[in-house]
Amino acid sequence: MTARRLFHRITVVDADGERPDAWVLVDDERIIEVGSGPAPAAAERIDGGGDVLTPGLIDLHRHGGGGHRHEDGIDGLRAAADLHAAHGTSRGVASLVAAPVETLETQLAAVAALSRTDRRVLGSHLEGPFLAVDRCGAHDPAHLIDPSPEVVARVITAAEGTLRQVTIDPRRSGALRAIELFREAGVAVAVGHTDAGYAEARDAFAAGATLLTHAFNAMPGLHHRAPGPVLAAADTDDVVLELILDGLHVDPRLAAALFTLAPGRVALITDAMAAAGAPDGPYRLGGLPVRVENGRALVDGTDTLAGSTLTQDHALANARALGIPLPSAVGALTLTPARALGLDDRLGLVRPGYASDVCLWSADGVLSPRSPEPRP
Ligand SMILES: [Zn+2]
Repeated sequence: MTARRLFHRITVVDADGERPDAWVLVDDERIIEVGSGPAPAAAERIDGGGDVLTPGLIDLHRHGGGGHRHEDGIDGLRAAADLHAAHGTSRGVASLVAAPVETLETQLAAVAALSRTDRRVLGSHLEGPFLAVDRCGAHDPAHLIDPSPEVVARVITAAEGTLRQVTIDPRRSGALRAIELFREAGVAVAVGHTDAGYAEARDAFAAGATLLTHAFNAMPGLHHRAPGPVLAAADTDDVVLELILDGLHVDPRLAAALFTLAPGRVALITDAMAAAGAPDGPYRLGGLPVRVENGRALVDGTDTLAGSTLTQDHALANARALGIPLPSAVGALTLTPARALGLDDRLGLVRPGYASDVCLWSADGVLSPRSPEPRP
């Protein structure tokens, strides 16, 4: 039996709402009990002093952090997880950018190996290579290809059951068949990096896609006569819309409107690259050189955003600044991403049976994670 820890004198906040004057009893794996009033005995007692406790945050889409890239193998993956854990993210999906298929197979295997021993790494997200050249963003267009059944089978095999999501441009040859193949393998499919219009995006969702990769970025926007993939996603029940809420990728007013268009279905991601939690300067994202100035990451020599330097604690603060109610903002960082991965029966809520990696936040000024940090 593992040691029990009790968090008491806390305000529990999750997608279900706020519960002041609560306590939460956990062991190393699961939440055992949640209540209010007299608290049970436990080996370790943590007095929250009225502070907020949430589920550990879940990031569906990130590329690195703390100066480390996911392309740098297990050490890079682990170091990036450390950085994001210090900002409240207890679970993250490791995104990989377009590369030759052999390279991706090696990277998928590294994520698979680490995710078996480190629960902070939920698995991989293949953001490339099935993207539109004209919407490649920071993906090297030389490595973008159609999702043929052969390549789909190779990446599924290489990931050994740990491929969590894949981004596909629905206009790519074979895209709809690929969506079905990935779904059969239990992989969530995202529409993204695409010039697809409303109808093409709806076809992709009808074929089984359930996510939209960073809404508004690397796709047509909301136009009054061409509503595009963002409205297609908002119009489709159960589709989750990723949003990079860093004040740079999407105008904050439009970001706020997205919460109204798709209530409970916005997942706040970081899309963080190596410079998150690290100084400005030169970096690489996949094989491409990136320069970071004042926290803005650009493909070197262009105005193309190359991921972000966001962490999820700042995404939460930015959501609060937009007037998003705290339970909705927390839900966009916990239950909604868990649901996008089909893990909402065990992740994303402060409820008995759910994962014990909760996060305690200091409430003075902007919420910031306080110790104990989520543990691996
Ligand atoms: Zn990305």
